[in-house]
Amino acid sequence: MTDHARRSSDALLAELRHALGEDGVLVGEAVTARAGDGSGTVPCVARAVLRPRTTEQLSAALAACHAANQPVVPQGGLTGLVGGGVAGDLEVAITLERMTTIEEIDPVGRTMTVQAGAALQSIQEAAEAEGLLFPLDLGARGSCTIGGNVATNAGGNRTIRYGMTRDSVLGLEAVLADGTVLSSLNKMVKNNAGYDLKHLFVGSEGTLGIVTRVVLRLERRPRSHDCALLAVPGFAEVVELLRRLEEEIGGSMSAFEVMWREFYELVTGPQARTAPPIPHGDPYYVLVESLGARPEEDAAQFEETLGGCMEAGLIGDAVLGRSKAERDEIWALRDDVEQLNHLAPIFTFDVSLRIADMESYVAGIKAALAKRWPESQCVVFGHLGDGNLHVVVAVGDGSPEARTAVEEVVYGGLEPIGGSVSAEHGIGFEKRAHLGRSRTPAEIALMRTLKRTLDPRGILNPGRVFQAEGAPETGSRADASVRLPA
Ligand code: ZN
Repeated sequence: MTDHARRSSDALLAELRHALGEDGVLVGEAVTARAGDGSGTVPCVARAVLRPRTTEQLSAALAACHAANQPVVPQGGLTGLVGGGVAGDLEVAITLERMTTIEEIDPVGRTMTVQAGAALQSIQEAAEAEGLLFPLDLGARGSCTIGGNVATNAGGNRTIRYGMTRDSVLGLEAVLADGTVLSSLNKMVKNNAGYDLKHLFVGSEGTLGIVTRVVLRLERRPRSHDCALLAVPGFAEVVELLRRLEEEIGGSMSAFEVMWREFYELVTGPQARTAPPIPHGDPYYVLVESLGARPEEDAAQFEETLGGCMEAGLIGDAVLGRSKAERDEIWALRDDVEQLNHLAPIFTFDVSLRIADMESYVAGIKAALAKRWPESQCVVFGHLGDGNLHVVVAVGDGSPEARTAVEEVVYGGLEPIGGSVSAEHGIGFEKRAHLGRSRTPAEIALMRTLKRTLDPRGILNPGRVFQAEGAPETGSRADASVRLPA
């Protein structure tokens, strides 16, 4: 660092301490003692970590960073899978870990106003205490924050019923790059008074503003809960099963998760936690779940529908989760993604495509992988009802060159069918080079225009989603490939 740079860096730190207080600005060992990413094995290398207590403090801190051209990286629970929140050594990390208050719950209007640093699980529990449901749910619920969920438009297990995070956000407050506070804390379901600005920030991965408060839309808590694990003899039957369930249990279906044979055998194999509730041997296993209002009638309808599907030859074996313990056991095997580590080194993918294209897409990538790596393994599972598959590939080689070659197969196969390289994990650093496979040049140009307009100096999470034109490379490219999708 030159003397001039050091002096201006010291001046910025002094200004940040003035804005946030001594304990609001961490440097040195207080920074390296913190985790740098979600693995917990890498120390944080950021130049400083800022811990605002209020929106006003964050606003003052961002104004100072903006004036000093200091890049900043907003961090939630560091549970992302594309490296978006991993700060480099030239960047300042900003955490909202001291802004975790649930400010208000309106049980009639079914809204919750919450600070962005609150953990997803604490929001779920607060809703439940009022007899309500916050429907977003994902494996990282204990550590991920609602600000991170909003910034990445998280998906999760119940998207088929309640949508992605975007669908549960009624309003939000965000601080722009120059410190401007944009308060858009709408609580109404219907508000067509001009552009709906909250959607600029949902899924923007911290590149357009830092979300500080959110108004969430809550649901009534369901009274019935039915769940089953089904063996399905072929892909055509998977599709027909989904159609029949949509018709017969319709709006109450809350999950339609499909495990390809290899995944099911891995999570119920001899090394796994769970013994197979249904014997191995079928090509597909489906987890279906339904949430409704009338326990007895819903259970009867659920079983009758599955009985009909069985008679029609759409289902082989079936196991019903009748108690909470049984339902939890079925979900536990679906969620036991840790078993994928037995295949390490692995490359993990999160893709979207039309259900009608899935069978040939998966067959195509398996064939292409086997041609180059005869011993390769390709394990597929995911939220099929949402068109979202997680693909995990092991080729016996974890090198960057192997990764690039596997990406070419997995992402290359999506282009002719109009699929997406990111269904629910975002772009971050990890998928930046592939954005153009799923978005047109005109779409990316408009994204860049928005970025330049809202963050003209490019200080907000630079290099994530896309690299600014002419900007120097900043931060470290995170290796998120070892993290497991859920
Ligand atoms: Zn998932």
